[in-house]
Amino acid sequence: MSIWNPHFECMVKDELKQLELERLQATLNRVYRSVAFYRKLFDQVGLVPDEINSLEELARIPFTGKTTLRQSYPYEMFAVPLRDVVRLQCTSGTTGEPIVVGYTRNDLVHWTEVGARVLCAGGVTKDDVVQICFDYSLFGGGLGFHYGAELIGASVIPGSNLDPARQVVIARDYRTTTLIATPGFGLRVAAVIREKGLSPADIYLRRGLFTGEPFSEVTRKQIEDELNIKATDNYGLSEIAWPGVAAECEKKKGLHIFEDQFIPEIIDPQTEEVLPLGKKGELVLTTIAKEAFPLIRYRTGDITVLDVSPCECGRTLVRMRKVSGRTDEMVTINGVSFFPSQIGHIFSEILGVEPRSCLVIDRRGDQEIVKILVQVSEEIFFDEMKKFQNLKSRVEREIYRDLGISAEVKLVEPDSFARETEGKRVIDKRERS
Ligand SMILES: [Zn+2]
Repeated sequence: MSIWNPHFECMVKDELKQLELERLQATLNRVYRSVAFYRKLFDQVGLVPDEINSLEELARIPFTGKTTLRQSYPYEMFAVPLRDVVRLQCTSGTTGEPIVVGYTRNDLVHWTEVGARVLCAGGVTKDDVVQICFDYSLFGGGLGFHYGAELIGASVIPGSNLDPARQVVIARDYRTTTLIATPGFGLRVAAVIREKGLSPADIYLRRGLFTGEPFSEVTRKQIEDELNIKATDNYGLSEIAWPGVAAECEKKKGLHIFEDQFIPEIIDPQTEEVLPLGKKGELVLTTIAKEAFPLIRYRTGDITVLDVSPCECGRTLVRMRKVSGRTDEMVTINGVSFFPSQIGHIFSEILGVEPRSCLVIDRRGDQEIVKILVQVSEEIFFDEMKKFQNLKSRVEREIYRDLGISAEVKLVEPDSFARETEGKRVIDKRERS
């Protein structure tokens, strides 16, 4: 098992903290000089970048949110003149306005470096044939993986957005050993292999690196079993680096955050207070090595937990748990906050699958109640239905135990499910009453 850059990935904690502080000070000075938004923000709270002498003082700076980035379209948040920018990409813009992200030559060196770390953590070596099934356009993460894989010296196939059937033919003929894709795409590849009457033994895949979508342990196991590979998770976001913020090593016990590049914090999304280590909350990132598009205390909207316990792989970098939800999906019932995805996880653990479900929140007297509508498929066999019914009370018990809320699970046929939910994951009737 190898580590791409032991110097940065296995640093003694004190040295790492010192490096982070120096890079933070340099970044704060740069954004104060070059980005009007940050100059104004720092002035408002009376912050002089040179006076920041510890990492804890980072908490004095207000957050940067996605709305600010959208309002700065296209170049207001850039910390260098356009002539120093060598690449422009943007976030996908599936929700709202896109955000333009620029990279200097140095930024691309760093991005390539973290890309190589991600791949190396997942087990890729120069002997591998790596097939990248991510879009290579303006929006995609394909380029980040591509340069990282080339730096390692692997043979890289830019599969880009070809359909799963063509990717499978290429994987078989070119003897691909490593698949890089979303978990959903991994499952579609497995389905194509089955449909073609092939077995995983007919192709040469040994591992897959997945990202871009929620990736539960149930899905991981399904992908590993169906493709007969080892599957690891990694994390990034286009505003900062995607891929390249954090990567799971082959021990599969959380994703190592590349702290020499990004400082992570966990905050309570509602009170915005920094939470102690080990508490679940929203991940906030500060970039400390980026030149063109540095971000200070950027709210990712992703919910996770940080873990500083030692990892058997030897990396000393803090780990983040798999992202368990998004702040914009958070629901609060009777004062208890949770994410619909947490209920999904409970279903997966008990049933082995995550059915389509929708939360209906309402009031009964002075109590807030939640009903969980679960879609049962048309083809579902009678005994499966019975199994579901038998497990219903167990699911309700687990939801109460894990989340502290009383919920009523109701099985619904597809037609009525579509009619009652209108495709929503959460229906809040409290607002109307
Ligand atoms: Zn590790």
